[in-house]
Amino acid sequence: MAKEELECSFCGRKKPETNLLIAGLDAHICDRCIQQAHGIVVEESKEEDSKDLSAELMLKKPLKIKSFLDEYIIGQEHTKKVMSVAVYNHYKRLLQPPTNDDIEIQKSNIIMVGQTGTGKTLMAKTIARMLNVPLAIVDATVLTEAGYVGEDVESILTRLLQAADYNLDKAEKGIVFIDEIDKIARKSDNPSITRDVSGEGVQQALLKLLEGTVVNVPPKGGRKHPDQKFIEVNTENILFIAGGAFDGIERVISKRLNMQAIGYSASIKEDVVDHDNLLQYIIPKDLKDFGLIPEIIGRLPVLTYMDPLDANTLRAILTEPKNAIIKQYKKLFEMDDIELNITDGALEYIVQKAIEYKLGARGLRSLCEEILTDAMFDLPGSDTKKLSVTKAYAEQKLSKTTLKKLKAVS
Ligand code: ADP
Repeated sequence: MAKEELECSFCGRKKPETNLLIAGLDAHICDRCIQQAHGIVVEESKEEDSKDLSAELMLKKPLKIKSFLDEYIIGQEHTKKVMSVAVYNHYKRLLQPPTNDDIEIQKSNIIMVGQTGTGKTLMAKTIARMLNVPLAIVDATVLTEAGYVGEDVESILTRLLQAADYNLDKAEKGIVFIDEIDKIARKSDNPSITRDVSGEGVQQALLKLLEGTVVNVPPKGGRKHPDQKFIEVNTENILFIAGGAFDGIERVISKRLNMQAIGYSASIKEDVVDHDNLLQYIIPKDLKDFGLIPEIIGRLPVLTYMDPLDANTLRAILTEPKNAIIKQYKKLFEMDDIELNITDGALEYIVQKAIEYKLGARGLRSLCEEILTDAMFDLPGSDTKKLSVTKAYAEQKLSKTTLKKLKAVS
């Protein structure tokens, strides 16, 4: 074929009518057709995404969910197991075909009780990552009843919409992690507060969201954009995970356990009670005694606890998870062709300081950052291609003042 006769095999445009004509084996395609085809591919893959979700979810049995969690989260065996089942059941409920029996599967919203820094947020994040669903993390302390200073409860859904890039379908199957749920507990010991703005009122407002309802959500959130159109979000298939430290709840648990031990129905004998980890005996009634209203507890039917982190767990957190802190630093140095080695002694020292200064798992990162900052400043571009961090090196970089400073910010 003569050159000037070339044409697009899709739309028939002659070469001079196109900006670009690309040759294939026996055909040609012009720039416009490429753009159009690209649009179709993008649209199709969007549809595939939402179709895939259902199919993919059904393939993830609890065992598989658990082993995914194992890759990122150290320990917390009980919660990982409970979570795997809850998430599996939640999505089973979501995918169940309509039946004519009267059995309606209840939503398996989850509540996790555990000290800060034990991995509650990480748990929610990892589940969302595995399911590839949008995740909104909200802090219950900023929520207030409508009409008060602070954020309305609906703002939770604004966040979820944002996390889903305003894809309503995706948002409605997303996960909301409500942190510090314990901070909106009813403050029964303070009767002088006539309207408990930050407590019970917020719990009431949260109720309908947890249950499943259609909420008018301001897509940009807040009251700063009064003319925005509302988006109707159905919360029926959104999985809510609440977390809180519930400081002092051990006393409630211990009191109950003592009463049980005295009563004839002692289910846990005093001599087998593990006093170092009382949270493992938590039951919904303890949450009620702490100040959550029974309706909220009823709508968070899966209750689980986080184990405190001991030295072995902290040590493992440093090196074992898929994106462990030490692995991240090694990679950072590697990008400058520097080999980073951290001795066991140094790792143990870091763990020991994290415990001594009560920095928890979150402090591990700050400790490493302090130890490695000088090297990260000096070594790139220098002749040094190897860095060995020993206990002595770590000790030298971590002065008492630094440690105190870390403790103050933690
Ligand atoms: P919480 O929400 O309970 O306050 P986070 O999930 O925010 O705690 O944990 C803080 C950080 O500590 C996480 O980003 C993670 O790096 C680390 N971490 C805590 N617990 C674990 C764990 N069990 N396994 C792995 N990393 C953990």
